[in-house]
Amino acid sequence: MCKGKLFIVGIGPGHHDMLTGKALKALQESDVIVGYTTYIDLLKGLIDNKEIVSTGMTKEITRVQQALDHAAKGKKVALVSSGDPGVYGMAGLAFELHSQEDDFDIEVIPGVTAATSCASLLGAPIMHDSAVISLSDRLTEKELIIKRVELAALGDFVIILYNPRSKTRKKLFDEVCDLLEKNLNGEIPVGLVWHAYRPEERKTIIKLSQLKENAPIVDMFTTILIGNSTTKVKNGRMITARGYEKKMPI
Ligand code: SAH
Repeated sequence: MCKGKLFIVGIGPGHHDMLTGKALKALQESDVIVGYTTYIDLLKGLIDNKEIVSTGMTKEITRVQQALDHAAKGKKVALVSSGDPGVYGMAGLAFELHSQEDDFDIEVIPGVTAATSCASLLGAPIMHDSAVISLSDRLTEKELIIKRVELAALGDFVIILYNPRSKTRKKLFDEVCDLLEKNLNGEIPVGLVWHAYRPEERKTIIKLSQLKENAPIVDMFTTILIGNSTTKVKNGRMITARGYEKKMPI
């Protein structure tokens, strides 16, 4: 029997141009592609002749186990995640479930994560120290999420929120807005990006004081970038200071 291989592939935000060369090669080399239905749809045109195993949103353990089982049978398998598979993706779970007896290699292929793809559409909002926080309390205690947001605000980090608000999880977003407003200047620019590098892409830049009133338009396809005390908006671009400006001759 041939030796299998499991690629854990980050496919980037959506558009095929945002796949890395290595990710594309792994998809081409694979016999089986395993992933959440939405991500499989994003790869249409690239994986049409492959065996596809697609599963729904909350089926992470089944999905990863299916990928491992196919690799154990000697297949080349690509387990796909949007963005980077090591950022709220499937890479950790695959290593957890990988049994010592399995005789195949696992390779993680990084991808362009939502923080940086969304940042590129807003201008240069990250630039300095930042904290990436998921507001999903499906696997993390709400109290811990709130503590992390508060400490990031106190540390003047640029804050990037993933999984900000869902149909069944609205209250935590409101609480986070209140907390940020309490600790930060309401004038701080906040960028919101929906569906980056997908046909439905949208973005806007508002002030922190306007974030809570915009809650109804925040969903699971949104990434939110909250500036730090140096972030400004110039010509429609959100820019966080790195410090060079201070060294520029006047
Ligand atoms: N592994 C992914 C993140 C998965 S968590 C990555 O590295 O990007 C899912 C969250 O990521 C979404 O709720 C949203 O906040 C963000 N996200 C993923 N793709 C996005 C896109 N194309 N545009 C905007 N936000 C995105």
